[in-house]
Amino acid sequence: MPVLPPPTTLVIGATTSHCGNCRQPTLPDDTHHNLVPGGRPSRGCGARFAAMAPADPQITNDDLRHIRPDLPIATDTTP
Ligand SMILES: [Zn+2]
Repeated sequence: MPVLPPPTTLVIGATTSHCGNCRQPTLPDDTHHNLVPGGRPSRGCGARFAAMAPADPQITNDDLRHIRPDLPIATDTTP
């Protein structure tokens, strides 16, 4: 049985979002990093999104809460 990566941050941008664990693109409404979207979609790392953070300065906390009302906003800004 594979070892799951630790919970991570969903990093939400204006046009794309990515996973804080493997830094590959992700769908912004996934509960886990199950899919790397794109021209040739592939499997994500499987990490659970436990929080979210903005990827671009124009993304406000209100935007984040609107996109994912179920996730807390990460206050830890270390990359
Ligand atoms: Zn990932």
